[in-house]
Amino acid sequence: MNFKELKLNKPLLRAVAEKHYNVPTPVQEKAIPLILEGKDVIVSAQTGTGKTAAYALPTLQLLFNNQEGAKKGKKIKALIVSPTRELAVQIQESFKDYGKYSDLVSTVVYGGTAMEPQIAELKKGVDILVATPGRLLDLHKQGLVNLDYVRTLVLDEADLMLDMGFIDDVNKIERLCPSGKQTLLFSATIPYKVVQLANSILKDPTEVAITPTSLAAARVHQLLYYTPKSKKIELCLHLLENTIKGNILIFRRTKFGVDKLEQRLLDNNYKVETLHGDMSQIDRQEALKRFKNKEVNIFIATDVAARGIDIDHLDNVLNFDLPNIPETYVHRIGRTGRAGQSGTSYSFCSAEEKEYLISIQKLMQKHIDVVEDNPFPLAPNAKPEVHKRKGSKHRKGRKSIASKKKKKRWY
Ligand code: AMP
Repeated sequence: MNFKELKLNKPLLRAVAEKHYNVPTPVQEKAIPLILEGKDVIVSAQTGTGKTAAYALPTLQLLFNNQEGAKKGKKIKALIVSPTRELAVQIQESFKDYGKYSDLVSTVVYGGTAMEPQIAELKKGVDILVATPGRLLDLHKQGLVNLDYVRTLVLDEADLMLDMGFIDDVNKIERLCPSGKQTLLFSATIPYKVVQLANSILKDPTEVAITPTSLAAARVHQLLYYTPKSKKIELCLHLLENTIKGNILIFRRTKFGVDKLEQRLLDNNYKVETLHGDMSQIDRQEALKRFKNKEVNIFIATDVAARGIDIDHLDNVLNFDLPNIPETYVHRIGRTGRAGQSGTSYSFCSAEEKEYLISIQKLMQKHIDVVEDNPFPLAPNAKPEVHKRKGSKHRKGRKSIASKKKKKRWY
């Protein structure tokens, strides 16, 4: 299938061609026709599947026919609610890119930064507003945002929105929009609370499911290193020095962990950027920009801070700590191997994390390849239950860097 067959209009096809998208991704193929028909949809798709275009393209097309030309007096007709500031900024950039051959105007509002410039943009008149929940309600309370003309409401990363405690805000926002609107709910996972939200606000929704696990499994070369917790930093330094090529996003579970690793890498003369919840908005955007511009090759982040962030051409992901929620593993490794490119994920598993690994492999329905060429291995009896193949050996001690990686599956 190509984009023409999705019945997108010429200005959108031209913008898509300029982005060098050759064919629609599976989520685009499934969701775009439904949204163009005016249906409410609930879509389970993670970042990296092309989900933003899956709602942005049809939303733009639906607005195309009703353009008002002059900016002043424009009404907000599409509202996209996103849990994080970074994601909101990226979504608006996508709308700008895809809508560049139209007169449709979009803007983004988010908290943690001055309101005035955002108010000035709103006053110029916008068709499409991308917003984080708190700032949107703030601006609405001040009479600076009118949601009476919204025809399309998109809730992006709904699961994260609920995890971050935005349920009341989301319900409030939904009620502020007209009842006849079309609602599109996108979520990486569909836990029960997302189903409850969907039941309460969507009208006869059509479900679109894209299996993230199979997508991730197909595109990302996943490698596993068993290593004691106390040796993870050494192993990380060893891999950065000898194995890992290109840029890398390193995940840690806590902000403390991010800071600690950053310091060790700086001490070893690596250029590093970090992202965690306590940073100011400006610092976060600057850090992300330096990584995206390839001024630094190493980026360390917590899950919440990094969720939804789109980095083109990410070569590697390192799970320094294994996540305790298996879906998080899929989100993390899905950052690399995007849109047709291949990528590599490295995961460190300590004795304390073996339960997490078992859940991850169950979800992935795949055993991750264990790298035996590991100078900092776990003692064999500390590994999860391993059924060795005949003749395989646990290796100990520092191996020659030049020696080939030897991988083994465990069952
Ligand atoms: P998303 O899942 O929306 O975060 O998109 C992930 C990445 O895929 C972004 O960099 C998009 O620009 C890119 N992308 C979206 N749709 C396509 C497509 N049909 N072909 C190639 N790349 C795409």
